Amino acid sequence: MKNGQNLLRIQEHYDTAFVQRVEQQSAQKVSQCYQCGNCTASCAFTGDYDFPVNQIMRLIQLGCKETVLGSRAIWLCGQCQACTVRCPCTIDVARVMATLRSMALESGFVADKNLRRFSDEFLRSVSLFGRVFEAGLLAAYKLRSGSVLSDLELAPVLLKKGKLRFVPHAIEGRREVAALVKRFFDAP
Ligand code: SF4
Ligand code: SF4
Repeated sequence: MKNGQNLLRIQEHYDTAFVQRVEQQSAQKVSQCYQCGNCTASCAFTGDYDFPVNQIMRLIQLGCKETVLGSRAIWLCGQCQACTVRCPCTIDVARVMATLRSMALESGFVADKNLRRFSDEFLRSVSLFGRVFEAGLLAAYKLRSGSVLSDLELAPVLLKKGKLRFVPHAIEGRREVAALVKRFFDAP
């Protein structure tokens, strides 16, 4: 078991209206998911999720609101859309994951404060430059999380591969990107 995978809250109060609220806010028919598993098979982050994305869909159907909104998975989702394009029910699974993140913020369910901090800094970076500025993101995250010395061994590897630039590169349409981020994620 990795990262506390599959820890269901057995005393959880089942919220039978949860699936309807997720469907309303995401405009997706989550109740039509029949657990084929394509979304999970397509997801590059499954190994780090506490619940694979198909299980998130099932937990929504079951009304396990606290487990879903308190999961790490909804914060680790990179919005790559791979699950969305492979869902045979044409459910925009990525959009459901983004909706769950907003709902978790609204309801005060956030599994790990550092996940929230990383997500905030990622969106702030994308809003400022139209794309992520990795070195700035890492510096801001580490200052906010207080884990300044963690993962330092990765720096030489990233530098060697040219993945860490110390000067941000803003794209032309950054204002439009910032407006999109604000609209969909209510960025800080
Ligand atoms: S791909 Fe679609 S139908 Fe299949 S498990 Fe995922 S959400 Fe459900
Ligand atoms: S959008 Fe999120 S859940 Fe879907 S495949 Fe990408 S990372 Fe996984």
